[in-house]
Amino acid sequence: MELWYTEKQTENYGITAKIRETLVTEKTEFQDLAIIDTVEFGRMLVLDGMVMTTEKDEFVYHEMVAHPALYTHPNPKHVLVVGGGDGGVIREVMKHPNVEKAVLVDIDGKVIEYSKKFLPSIAGELDNPRVEVLVNDGYMHIHDHKNAYDVIMVDSTEPVGPAVELFSRGFYQGIYESLKEDGTFVAQTDNPWFKADLIRNVNRDVKEIFPIVRVYCANIPTYPSGLWTFTMGSKKYDPLQVDETKIPEIDTKYYSPRLHKAAFVLPKFVEDLCK
Ligand code: SAM
Repeated sequence: MELWYTEKQTENYGITAKIRETLVTEKTEFQDLAIIDTVEFGRMLVLDGMVMTTEKDEFVYHEMVAHPALYTHPNPKHVLVVGGGDGGVIREVMKHPNVEKAVLVDIDGKVIEYSKKFLPSIAGELDNPRVEVLVNDGYMHIHDHKNAYDVIMVDSTEPVGPAVELFSRGFYQGIYESLKEDGTFVAQTDNPWFKADLIRNVNRDVKEIFPIVRVYCANIPTYPSGLWTFTMGSKKYDPLQVDETKIPEIDTKYYSPRLHKAAFVLPKFVEDLCK
């Protein structure tokens, strides 16, 4: 008998993946959690029925959350990751030797626990001595830590359940105040095919708060529509003003010095959402 996992990406459209094995399923305090082993994409973390990350394509998302911002800020020493309990963004942050401390704040400790157990290639740096892992609401954390971070990355679930507040104007204002005076932040801001209004609204809100706002894209096969956006807000440094010849070639498979600025060239229908 064949077993398949299907994610309904809208009420009328979805993706489906053949499963080898179910490694864990649990209803945590915050969400339904599952880690399944799929034939095509390897092990897959699923929260509330939505693909969070897979062994095969995770590098795209995690590299593209971390490196554009960390090479836009000239000397990021203190970094915050909101969400990201699978550890993938933290693994990429650790490729930056000038980062002295990276704090990860995920509301659900079970995501961290099971990612360490079943997704070691993704979660392997969560025990790095430069990393502090906190189980808390990211919204609370940024309001309790003013003028604290050089770079903040928001690697949250979609705006449902505990992550709803992480797409609010108040949250972006809190990020502004939690950043140092020359800080930069980036948030994953979903896909332009099914979540155009979200991208438009986040862009509007962030532009009201930050002087520099840029949006970039990446291709993530297992995410809704496959085309993903990221919104960067910066107090001082513009990712398009970076001298890409000074960006080192590091151990990546998607991000590169050549891609740094190219990623910000948007398809016209996405540009139109960010006007
Ligand atoms: N890459 C995925 C995406 O783009 O949807 C996100 C992966 S990561 C596992 C998402 C994490 O956000 C989850 O572990 C979830 O527990 C966390 N999260 C959701 N709401 C949160 C909040 N208010 N504070 C901190 N973490 C939160």
